[in-house]
Amino acid sequence: MGMKQEKAMEIPDKPREGCGIFGVFNHPEAANLTYLGLYALQHRGQESAGIVSSDGRELHVHKAMGLVSDIFTESALKTLPGSSAIGHVRYSTTGSSHIKNAQPFVVSGGVGNVAIAHNGNLTNAMEIRKELESYGSIFQSTMDTEVIIHLMAISREKTLLDRLINALSRVQGAYSLLLMAENTMIAVRDPRGFRPLSIGRLGDATVVASESCAFDLIGAALEREIDPGEIVSIDKQGRKSYKPFPPLKQSPCVFEFIYFARPDSFIFGRNVYEIRKELGRQLAREYPLEADVVIPVPDSGMPAAIGYAQEAGIPLELGLIRNHYVGRTFIEPKQSIRHFGVKIKLNPVRQILKGKRVVVVDDSIVRATTGRKIIKMIRSGGATEIHFLISSPPTRFPCFYGIDTPTKSELIANSHTLEEIRKYITCDSLGYLSLEGLKYVVEGGRRPFCYACFDGQYPVEFPVKIPEPQMPLFYNLSPMK
Ligand code: AMP
Repeated sequence: MGMKQEKAMEIPDKPREGCGIFGVFNHPEAANLTYLGLYALQHRGQESAGIVSSDGRELHVHKAMGLVSDIFTESALKTLPGSSAIGHVRYSTTGSSHIKNAQPFVVSGGVGNVAIAHNGNLTNAMEIRKELESYGSIFQSTMDTEVIIHLMAISREKTLLDRLINALSRVQGAYSLLLMAENTMIAVRDPRGFRPLSIGRLGDATVVASESCAFDLIGAALEREIDPGEIVSIDKQGRKSYKPFPPLKQSPCVFEFIYFARPDSFIFGRNVYEIRKELGRQLAREYPLEADVVIPVPDSGMPAAIGYAQEAGIPLELGLIRNHYVGRTFIEPKQSIRHFGVKIKLNPVRQILKGKRVVVVDDSIVRATTGRKIIKMIRSGGATEIHFLISSPPTRFPCFYGIDTPTKSELIANSHTLEEIRKYITCDSLGYLSLEGLKYVVEGGRRPFCYACFDGQYPVEFPVKIPEPQMPLFYNLSPMK
């Protein structure tokens, strides 16, 4: 992009954020539908949510910190008139939790009135921001998304679409975007297709969502996924599709399949549940164990545990029961009561666990604090042997493309061996899915993915020094006895 690179910046010390986006064009209940769409996408972000609607003359905005169902009361939804709307949910992070970073952003000025909602992370936003600030741009937030708006504002192009293309030709990284002006909605997926984005139909209305589960809730039909590098512009005249950027090697995020997306969604050409179950089957092929029972870690380990149990021929039992009414208060309690955390969420079923050799299946280990508590809980339930299997490889590298993985120092697999992690978690054996096994399941010989959190191969350069792993890779250790 022709800019001199700054000297390597520090690795950001706070997690990146995940997000979900939803939009509807040409429906009398646009804001209500967006509310429902965001409700279905709540798993993609619980920090803040926002909706911007258009009545054809002006944009109306309502955003706040918290959960979708708390923010959008009946009276709040009444302040969002019009037949088109876009919405956004933002992930819970510790450091940058502030209403000024809640989306969609709304700006007026050179570009007219525009709202923008973004899922993903731009890798060169800091550089561009510094450059723009040196020319006098004043940023309202600390979000990378705002860079796109500023680039659009200074573009010499005439139309919103051309200004957007102009702006996007300068940014790099991950972006699934929704933009809305008074009479237009525009959906975009970055050329590498990091984050999912689909388009569907509800009667005469067009709907766009991060995941197809949002269409299911409102009774919309999924038409197709927006292609990597595609821009779809929607107005009263209809839809137009553009591919203005040179094609790049695609790298959709494999962690969407492993953990982030909802299992009932169809993304990257596949159903998420089927993939997760197949990862469990692959885990069983890699770690054939003698055990009495397979226990899923609710809810994230469920499909993989089903796959493992079916392939291994070991009965699946719900040895951990989840309280589904746990609110945020208990997810992030104050330090003094933090040790209650997992117990508030999960309780072991002693009748299932007592005297049993159990295989516990979860999707991933990040810091290993949850796994450690869960294994202790299962042990307290009377299990005699506990084998902990993970349906993904060790998470060893931070994500710079929109998944909220912590910094490398907090990723236990970055600095500890398999045996050290096993000891910390206190299980009898520990096994991760191999990277080869993961690739075999998700690629099916059809398309590549981004595996950067596992192998450190970042598809888009990030202007920071990527840390070397502190230990040699250990994916291929021989399976447990
Ligand atoms: P821990 O190892 O204690 O940090 O937690 C691991 C659990 O967190 C896994 O079982 C996943 O279900 C879940 N998890 C994985 N990645 C993320 C993420 N980016 N944000 C929130 N939870 C995650």
